[in-house]
Amino acid sequence: MIKELLWFPTNKCLIDGEWRFPEAKAEITLVNPSDGKFLSCIARCSKNDVGSAVSSAHESLTGSWGKKTALERGRILIAMSKLVKKYSEKLAYIEALDVGKPLSQAKNDVVALIRYLEFYGGAADKIHGLTIPFHNDYTVYGLRERLGVTAHIIPWNYPMQIIGRSVSASLAIGNACILKPSEEACLTALAFGEIANEAGLPNGALNIIPGFGLEAGQSLTSNKKINHISFTGSVKTGILVQTSAAQNIVSTTLELGGKSPQIVFDDADLERAIPFLINGGLQNSGQTCSASSRILIQKNAYKIVVEKMRDVYKTLRVAPAIEDFELGPLISQRQMDIITSYLNKSADLKLSAEGSVMKNPSGGFYVSPKLFETENYMHSIAQEEIFGPIQIVIPFDDEKEAIKIANATEYGLVASVWTENGSRQLRMAKALKAGQVFVNNYGAGGGIELPFGGVEKSGNGREKGFESLYGFSQLKTVATFHGEGNE
Ligand code: NAP
Repeated sequence: MIKELLWFPTNKCLIDGEWRFPEAKAEITLVNPSDGKFLSCIARCSKNDVGSAVSSAHESLTGSWGKKTALERGRILIAMSKLVKKYSEKLAYIEALDVGKPLSQAKNDVVALIRYLEFYGGAADKIHGLTIPFHNDYTVYGLRERLGVTAHIIPWNYPMQIIGRSVSASLAIGNACILKPSEEACLTALAFGEIANEAGLPNGALNIIPGFGLEAGQSLTSNKKINHISFTGSVKTGILVQTSAAQNIVSTTLELGGKSPQIVFDDADLERAIPFLINGGLQNSGQTCSASSRILIQKNAYKIVVEKMRDVYKTLRVAPAIEDFELGPLISQRQMDIITSYLNKSADLKLSAEGSVMKNPSGGFYVSPKLFETENYMHSIAQEEIFGPIQIVIPFDDEKEAIKIANATEYGLVASVWTENGSRQLRMAKALKAGQVFVNNYGAGGGIELPFGGVEKSGNGREKGFESLYGFSQLKTVATFHGEGNE
């Protein structure tokens, strides 16, 4: 099936607008998570390929790409959004097969990519510098300038969405980009390269170098000619990326993991809350940075909320991605092993509810979703990012205790509060340790316009929304002395 969907080369890298074999002609095999079988081969780029990509990006800044006006850059991004729409059916199928996410979730990712390209295409000529009131004999202004060449290292769980929020924002401001997708899911990143070429993005403005993290990724983060690194992935790799970037005094945006809570007070609108509590935790089989893996429930409402969640859990089915049930497989055997190791630590927790695996073709990576209960909020399953279809429910007495439990992990990505009490909504939003807080919802439907990012171990810097354009640019202050003019 996959061959009929691919209209671009999969085993090459994109350098200077041209699909090239990596210098060593090496390849990596991609596996279909739904059946564990061969899906495709992708290029395995090495240090030399990364070097060529970086040179090509710099040349584009002094060449055709660097000469484009903000309006022209925006128009190219809008043209790309139209092409993503044209190829949307194929892109959704490719993402479902590559990542293992249910087809309708992959379709949502295509819609998000279109929206990111529209948003940043429209924003390209609307980000301005400033003038600063100073002494009367000076005129002072700030020029908002591009950073130069930006590296974008992304994970396997939402390739299209992360490319959308990161690469299109950076291109809008006029940077040239080097994209290093994950070795585990890479195909829609390559499709994005072909779409950029078709839309007329000048050569070298976007280079794509698939490969291993320790090879292509590390060569990129240690390259002296990179001006900024946008990294999305685990805390462990984030530390390596930041350490490597520090050697060259290169700035980083780190979008890392989470252990995000949803907090349900006893006055919450439960009919509205229940689907959010569950989908927020299990979307993409829980392999989501902002997954609500912890559900905190006020004691008066505890029994009823857990019962309602249980009823939904019993209906949840896991099946191959293309069959489009509620959940698909995990990305890999490695991820299955991680989940299994956490399940082995769950003996002292109450297993409250479980979904079912519909079909288990030999080799696919299937785990049924599980809901645990505990009062021990310091339990490793309530503290560590598991990145699988596992949620844990924790009771609390009052607002003070809810805040203590919610803020007790080393992460701080997102959080939500369910209550009809307006004053409490405002107090909780201030008290929670998170980059985004949702009140009576979770995720705001993806919120392309809403700045996103973490605190503490969830990372730093913001992507999405207008804020991202500030992160991918810098201000140059110009102070001109002209005197008071006495003539
Ligand atoms: P990962 O192992 O950290 O990998 C992320 C990317 O970094 C991949 O492209 C990887 O390449 C590359 N990489 C690995 N080692 C590297 C190194 N030494 N130098 C440079 N690059 C290197 O993360 P993952 O398992 O793919 O993704 C899951 C994690 O991402 C979770 O923790 C999740 O919470 C986080 N995440 C965060 C967000 C957010 O916005 N906050 C969004 C999505 C995911 P290879 O794949 O080739 O190893």
